[in-house]
Amino acid sequence: MKEINSSEFEKEVLKGGKVILDFYSTECPPCEALASKFENLAGLYGNDIKFIKIFRQQNRELADRLAVKSSPTLLFYDNGNEVAGRLSGGVKRSEIIRNLDSMLPEARVKEIKAKIKPTVSEYDVIILGAGPGGLTAGLYLCQAKINTVLIDPSLPGGHVSTTHEVSNYPGFIEPQAGYMLSHNMSEQTKMCGTVYKVAVDITSVDLDKKEVVIDEYETVRAKKIIVGTGTTPNLTGAPGEKELKGKGISYCATCDGKYMEGKEVVVIGGGNSAVEESEYLTRFATKLTIIHQFDKLTANKKAQDKILKNPKVNIKLKMSKQKYVRNCLVMESSSLLE
Ligand SMILES: Cc1cc2nc3c(=O)[nH]c(=O)nc-3n(C[C@H](O)[C@H](O)[C@H](O)COP(=O)(O)OP(=O)(O)OC[C@H]3O[C@@H](n4cnc5c(N)ncnc54)[C@H](O)[C@@H]3O)c2cc1C
Repeated sequence: MKEINSSEFEKEVLKGGKVILDFYSTECPPCEALASKFENLAGLYGNDIKFIKIFRQQNRELADRLAVKSSPTLLFYDNGNEVAGRLSGGVKRSEIIRNLDSMLPEARVKEIKAKIKPTVSEYDVIILGAGPGGLTAGLYLCQAKINTVLIDPSLPGGHVSTTHEVSNYPGFIEPQAGYMLSHNMSEQTKMCGTVYKVAVDITSVDLDKKEVVIDEYETVRAKKIIVGTGTTPNLTGAPGEKELKGKGISYCATCDGKYMEGKEVVVIGGGNSAVEESEYLTRFATKLTIIHQFDKLTANKKAQDKILKNPKVNIKLKMSKQKYVRNCLVMESSSLLE
């Protein structure tokens, strides 16, 4: 593995044969999460592919020229040509391996894979999930000097890291950007010594044996496992939903109701959650439209009776195939609900 600066780029990368190049930065949690994977893979693939690191903050001009916009970003070169796909953010070991394998003959890949030695590590506690729940557990445990490892397929922070603003977190008078709040939670937990294994593939979890296998080769054992894997909202799957999540599309009425003040709101669904949360949202919204795929609401009778009497609420039944455009929901029938 070698560290270069931009003056060596041509010699080491463009004329360097097969190369993986890591643009990294300091104070960058995803770069920290990548560093040990990069080093480990250099040990495996280093005879066939050169592993090179470059400090993005000191080589900005080169980064801009190569359109590298975030850290870490991994680029792959073969005889001066960029090959495979770029990887950035919470890069998983399996994604790097996929790209490296694509640069080598199949027979050589098999030889390299045969060199992968399974590892086993032991802790007092494994926490599955590095959202606010897991991070809080990690903080308390490491402050009690209990040897703890946090395991998450994503970067730390859970749902809060994708939340635009959190305005009800005790101790903060002003609303906090979700990504910053979760970053601070994560740094606090890391600072007291909790080990992080994040942006990993969870190969298997055995709660009886108290054993978690990650990235297919690394077994982590503990005396106890805490499961803090959170919940995942049911997505509608409509185009635009992923991109606009947290930017107008919300999955938590009590969290985000206050942002609906004076607005027209659409709620998708017709069961108890949708109907009861709609009732709550009418405290803020000027008008609320429930859209539901079936020909009648499926919430309990009491909730239905209440919502039907609410003058702010309009209900549209048998609606499907919507797509999201900015803050609008466009229905197949081409009616536009803002
Ligand atoms: C849009 C939105 C806005 C919100 N706004 C607010 C707000 O303003 N105020 C507020 O108090 N709350 C808010 N919430 C709720 C808040 O985000 C959740 O209460 C909180 O994130 C729950 O934390 P958690 O750690 O239990 O779970 P999560 O945040 O869901 O974290 C779970 C973690 O587990 C990981 N995981 C999943 N599967 C596995 C596995 N098999 N193995 C290991 N790890 C796994 C996930 O990658 C994730 O990192 C909001 C939620 C959303 C979605």
